[in-house]
Amino acid sequence: MDVCGIPVLRGEKKKTSLHIQPGFFLPVWIVCGKAEGPTLVVTAGVHGCEFVGIQTVRQFYEKIDIESFCGQLVLVPMVNPSGFYHGAKQIVPEDGKNLNRVFPGDENGSLSQQIAYAIEKKLYPWADFLLDLHGGDINEELVPLVFFPVAASQKVQEIAKAAAMHLPVPYRVRSTARNGLYSHGVQCGVPALLLEIGSGGRWNAEEVSLCEKSLLRLMGYLGMGGAICINEKQKEGVEGFYQDAPEKGFWYPLVKAGQTVAKGTKLGELRSLDHCLLAEYSAEVDGIVWYYTTTLGVRKGDSLFAYGRCE
Ligand SMILES: [Zn+2]
Repeated sequence: MDVCGIPVLRGEKKKTSLHIQPGFFLPVWIVCGKAEGPTLVVTAGVHGCEFVGIQTVRQFYEKIDIESFCGQLVLVPMVNPSGFYHGAKQIVPEDGKNLNRVFPGDENGSLSQQIAYAIEKKLYPWADFLLDLHGGDINEELVPLVFFPVAASQKVQEIAKAAAMHLPVPYRVRSTARNGLYSHGVQCGVPALLLEIGSGGRWNAEEVSLCEKSLLRLMGYLGMGGAICINEKQKEGVEGFYQDAPEKGFWYPLVKAGQTVAKGTKLGELRSLDHCLLAEYSAEVDGIVWYYTTTLGVRKGDSLFAYGRCE
């Protein structure tokens, strides 16, 4: 059979690559189950310092028992290899762009746009479902959560939300994003999720285990084998508040990721070099802090925090 244009046999694992531009390839690893079933595309490392997903995909490819699942897995362990090796925060070093903001791509654009274009044209068409693995970058602390799309067709929304409910992370959060790897996928009709595990550009075995368990639960939900298990404890973030820095400054967060905040709780302050108060933020509703920025220095437009009401 043929997966992503690569001939592969039932019961076979194959390491191949996706050509982006002369001399630049993305690793693509295919695992073909013994029986027919859906194709799940899993991408990691769009942001090079979000290590949990990258490590999970590496381990998963080696460990997976082909006898035990059906369908096809298409694993992309590093969507932004130079970002990973250079330790670049959020960007593709070659062009300075955030790959998760450039979809749809451009065949004749810069490297980020070419990567986006190749993913849209070469991977989306094969995907019955897509999972994009992220985590807290070197400037972010977050609570494990999964973003599911609400800016998509009704059918795609329903499939993706049901899938999110099977993952062993404490929160699922509605997302209206459109220009990232997973969010453009949903615009193209591919049910997809974005999973966030890990913080601060670090990783550990426990986080990798949670990420792997999430992948297995998703495969179970998709009918690729394994347990089908709804996470009854998971809460849904129904109203989100996302704050970007209005100007550059010194950022003093006053809450932690996962913290419960009551309406009026002070969330943080932005000050100038000369200590002038540039902005201060308080919670507008009772909610949970999903993530916040830990770095002292922030640029205009950098994310400061996100929190939301959950039910
Ligand atoms: Zn990310």
